[in-house]
Amino acid sequence: MSDNCIFCKIVAGQIPAKKIYEDEDVIAFHDIHPIANVHFLIVPKRHIESLLTAQEADQALLGKLLAKAPALAREQGLGEGFRTMINTGAQGGQSVFHLHLHVFGGGGKAETMM
Ligand code: 5GP
Ligand code: ZN
Repeated sequence: MSDNCIFCKIVAGQIPAKKIYEDEDVIAFHDIHPIANVHFLIVPKRHIESLLTAQEADQALLGKLLAKAPALAREQGLGEGFRTMINTGAQGGQSVFHLHLHVFGGGGKAETMM
């Protein structure tokens, strides 16, 4: 756990989140400021700052973030399709420096931004 990391605090149950999934490796919860009708985050429980600091040994965990997306998206009503995004570094739009995969769908701003 990294001090002052908001997602580590969510993983530790120290601050609340609208959790949709959890296992030994990852947690998923709704984004606090959704930019689509459905917008949730899939987050490794272990603190990895970003893709820029991810290591070779993190490969399986990185794969799991993506592999979990379709089942969780389906449960959230996005069985017809969804969009994913990983912001990396401040220059890449990252604001929380604990790696996370955004999953968007169901209409809204995130679906027209690119
Ligand atoms: P980034 O810009 O780093 O890719 O995305 C960070 C995301 O985390 C943003 O979409 C922001 O709304 C969300 N977020 C920031 N703080 C919290 C929080 O305390 N709880 C939840 N559920 N989402 C958060
Ligand atoms: Zn963290």
